[in-house]
Amino acid sequence: MPRRKNDNKNNNQHQRRDPFHKEELKQKGLSEKFARLRGMKDVIFDENKYWDLVIKKASDLAEVYGFKKIQTPILESLELYKKSTGESSDIVSKEMYSFVDKNGEKVAMRPEITPSLVRAYVENGMLNMPHPVKMFSYGPIFRHEKPQAGRYRQAHQLDWEIFGEASPVADFLLMLIAYNLFSELQIDVELQVNNIGCKVCRGEYIKKLTAYYKERGNRSRLCNDCKRRLDKNPLRLLDCKEPGCGALKEDAPPIVDFLCEDCKKKFTRVLEYLDGMNIPYNLNLSLVRGLDYYTGTVFEIWAKEENEKNAAGQLSLGGGGRYDNLVEFFGGRPTPACGMGIGIERAVAKIKTGGIPLENREKNSVFIAQLGDAARKKAIGLFEELRKSGFIVKQAFTRDSLKDQLEEANNLGAKLTLILGQKEMNDKTIMMRDMESGNQEIVDYKKVKSEIEKRINTI
Ligand SMILES: [Zn+2]
Ligand SMILES: [Zn+2]
Repeated sequence: MPRRKNDNKNNNQHQRRDPFHKEELKQKGLSEKFARLRGMKDVIFDENKYWDLVIKKASDLAEVYGFKKIQTPILESLELYKKSTGESSDIVSKEMYSFVDKNGEKVAMRPEITPSLVRAYVENGMLNMPHPVKMFSYGPIFRHEKPQAGRYRQAHQLDWEIFGEASPVADFLLMLIAYNLFSELQIDVELQVNNIGCKVCRGEYIKKLTAYYKERGNRSRLCNDCKRRLDKNPLRLLDCKEPGCGALKEDAPPIVDFLCEDCKKKFTRVLEYLDGMNIPYNLNLSLVRGLDYYTGTVFEIWAKEENEKNAAGQLSLGGGGRYDNLVEFFGGRPTPACGMGIGIERAVAKIKTGGIPLENREKNSVFIAQLGDAARKKAIGLFEELRKSGFIVKQAFTRDSLKDQLEEANNLGAKLTLILGQKEMNDKTIMMRDMESGNQEIVDYKKVKSEIEKRINTI
C-alpha cells in the first residue's frame, strides 16, 4: 500500500507522453479510440526482466520468512473497501474503480490488497489454523488518480500480511523483509516509522488534535481538503502536503505524548529491533498513512536519496502497519494483525536507474542453425533433445540463410552456434562456432552434448 502523495511537478512531462496525444497516435496509425487508457501502461519485453527480478526476490523472501502464497479476486464488493480502507480515505472517496454489475451489485476493482486478504482470512476459516497465519500476494490494484510520472491507474503491489501476532516482532519482521528486499535490489532505503496509537489512547489524542486545528486562526489556514477531513479523519491533517497545513503541523501536539503504556512499549521494542539490525530509519511523527484501519505501528519505505523530495511529497516505495481491529470488524474473532505493501512499478523504476546487473541466461545459450530441409528436420530434433537435457537453446528454424541465422544468434547473445548442413549430415558431424572468437570446429555428432558442456563450463 504505498502512499501516493500530491505531486504536480512532473505533470508536463507526463502530458507529452500521454497516450492520448493525438499527433503521436496518428503517426503510429492507431485510432485514438483504440488507444491505451490514460494512466495505464504496457510492460514490454525486456522491461519484464526487472519485474521478474523484483517478484522473484519478493517471493523468495516471503518463503524464507514463512509466508504462504494466496491469490484473491480483483473484483470485490464495494462495501469491503468502504468499511475497511474507509469512506473518508482518498482512495475510497475519490479514486475507486467501482460500478454496478449486471445483477445490480455494487462492486469495485481492488484499490489495495489488504482488505481482500482480511476477508479471505475470515471467509476461509483461517481463524482455526495454527497461528500466526502469514500470507504473501501480488498483483494489480486500481486507482483512478490524476496521471503523473511514476503513478499508474493500474499499479502492481507485493503484499505481506501476518495474522494472529500481537508482538512488535511481527511489525519488525515486515520492515526487515522490506529492507532486505531493497538491499538485494541494490536500492538504498530509509524506513519512516511512527505509532498512531490504539483504541485506548488514540481517542484522547484525536480530541486534542482536533481542538488544536479548530483553534482560532488555525482552521482558516487549512486547505479545503483538510477542512473537510477535520471532523471525519483529523489524523490525515498531519499528512497533508499543502504549505499552509504543513506549517500548522509543526506546532500540532505530537502523538508520542499521548501513547498508552502498551503502545509506548511496543513502539520502543520495534525501534530496538531496527537498531539491533542496523536498519536505517527515521522517527517520523507526522507519518499517519491515509487508511482508516491502521492502529499502532505505521511505516513507509523511502529511497534514501529521495528523502528530501519525499518530505516535499514524493512517492514512497511502500508501506504498511498494524491493523489490530480489522479482523473483528469483519466478523472474525479479535485477531491482531499487520501487513505491508510494496509498489512494483516504483521498485522497477529505482532498479533501472540504479543499473543493477540482470542475470543473463543467454550468455550460456546454444544456437542451432541449419542449411537445407533435411538438416532442418534433424536440427529441430536436436533442439528438443538439448532443451530436455537442460541446455539453454535458441533457434531460427523459419530462416533459410546461414547469414541470417548467425545474425540472429549474435543478437540473442548466444555463446555457441551449432551448424548443420548437408556435408555435416553426410559425415555425421556438426560444426561448432564460438560466437565470440568466431573459431569453428567440426565435432562428431554423437559427442555433441559433451562437446557443448566442455565449452560452456569453461565460462
Ligand atoms: Zn495505545
Ligand atoms: Zn491540507
